[in-house]
Amino acid sequence: MSRRKFCSASAAAAVTALVSPLPALAQSAARIVVIGGGFGGASCARALKQIDPKLQVTLVEPNRTFIACPFSNNVVAGLRSLEQQKFGYDKVAASGITVVALEATTINAAARTVGLADGTSLAYDRLVLSPGIELRFDALSGYDEAAAAKMPHAWKAGEQTLLLRKQLEAMDDGGLVVIAAPANPFRCPPGPYERACLIAHYLKTRKPRSKLIILDAKDTFSKQRLFQNAWKELYPGMIEWISLSQGGKVNAVDPATNTLITDFGNHTAQVANVIPPQRAGRIAAIAGATDNTGWCAIDPVTFESRSAPNIHVIGDACLAGAMPKSAFSANAQAKTCANAIATLVAGGSPAAPKLINTCYSLAAPDYGISIAGVYHPKNGSLADVEGAGGVSPLEASRDFRAREADYAQSWFATITAEVFG
Ligand SMILES: Cc1cc2nc3c(=O)[nH]c(=O)nc-3n(C[C@H](O)[C@H](O)[C@H](O)COP(=O)(O)OP(=O)(O)OC[C@H]3O[C@@H](n4cnc5c(N)ncnc54)[C@H](O)[C@@H]3O)c2cc1C
Repeated sequence: MSRRKFCSASAAAAVTALVSPLPALAQSAARIVVIGGGFGGASCARALKQIDPKLQVTLVEPNRTFIACPFSNNVVAGLRSLEQQKFGYDKVAASGITVVALEATTINAAARTVGLADGTSLAYDRLVLSPGIELRFDALSGYDEAAAAKMPHAWKAGEQTLLLRKQLEAMDDGGLVVIAAPANPFRCPPGPYERACLIAHYLKTRKPRSKLIILDAKDTFSKQRLFQNAWKELYPGMIEWISLSQGGKVNAVDPATNTLITDFGNHTAQVANVIPPQRAGRIAAIAGATDNTGWCAIDPVTFESRSAPNIHVIGDACLAGAMPKSAFSANAQAKTCANAIATLVAGGSPAAPKLINTCYSLAAPDYGISIAGVYHPKNGSLADVEGAGGVSPLEASRDFRAREADYAQSWFATITAEVFG
């Protein structure tokens, strides 16, 4: 934990440095368009305006209310309302950013324009994409948008979150819940395992004869030993994890019978939570910023796309090396990218950054665990800073775990206040 305390202190220092205003002479009225008003995009728009108030910053986001994924597993488990996940853009607009409530549909990189759903367009000097993820409905046989209405992914918060919650409420005591977790990379690496814990918490308290199976397309996962210890301690005999090498990879689903099909056998669930493979949000491909992985390769100093000049990609959509796809990462990348853009449009050269991510997970409402990392550009990507960061201790008192659960709540309150006001 002492290493993590060091990281937190460094994080505060890094954030301060990143949003320092530029010297007055270097200030510019360049036009910056940001697509996507989630954790990455809204953070970037605000940081740009803070660094250089003269920048003309436009945020393009079709939804008037953003619904946050962090803490949405609590909604699934009936511990929190979806209303508590919702944030508007009034304060973003009040900070001098033009908020356009439309979807961006086309990008003309040569002319530097963004086409909007109403047929109008916006000109830019630099464009930032933070569109999050697109679910790959083509990647899992039988799983399409209609199947998701029966076997919810709940990997974008909103109606899907509520659907999964309602299915758990309607399930019999003694029923089987199956979670299908995808291979890397995907949004929120610890998310499926936190979800398993919080669903198990609901089952333990409301339907104690029930069981939960995680079918996994990988052999290791984030905070694995901490999660597995929590399963033994909190939910003995309730959660079974089937790894890739034990036959956990789901190859197909049958929504008519709620069945998940693997090479080693079929699992028919009462509640099936299918988290499919993912790629960068569609507009990134339209911009020419994706590669054959479906994600966006970037320069780790500026977050500028490797294939689309003057277009920067942050958040879940980009390939950020060792940095996980998290809201905290998106926020840190947003500030780094804003700083680089302000420097570039003023004619300077951005300095190599250090970025920090901390990710809390809840194994129960009063039982938190965390992982922290520090990253820097290395060999064209972002790599761990050796010896920095760390995870919660494997052996800790319940008081310690309860404190980490409190820190998780504070983290969510702080980051959403910073991003949405
Ligand atoms: C169950 C779950 C739990 C999680 N828990 C945590 C956690 O505890 N901590 C943590 O740090 N992270 C957590 N995450 C991950 C976190 O939600 C994402 O990493 C984060 O939201 C990524 O930010 P982003 O800006 O890339 O995308 P988003 O926050 O998804 O924002 C993308 C935005 O872009 C908009 N958009 C997309 N396309 C267009 C377009 N063409 N035009 C205009 N707008 C567009 C969308 O409407 C959306 O508002 C969790 C995720 C899940 C699923």
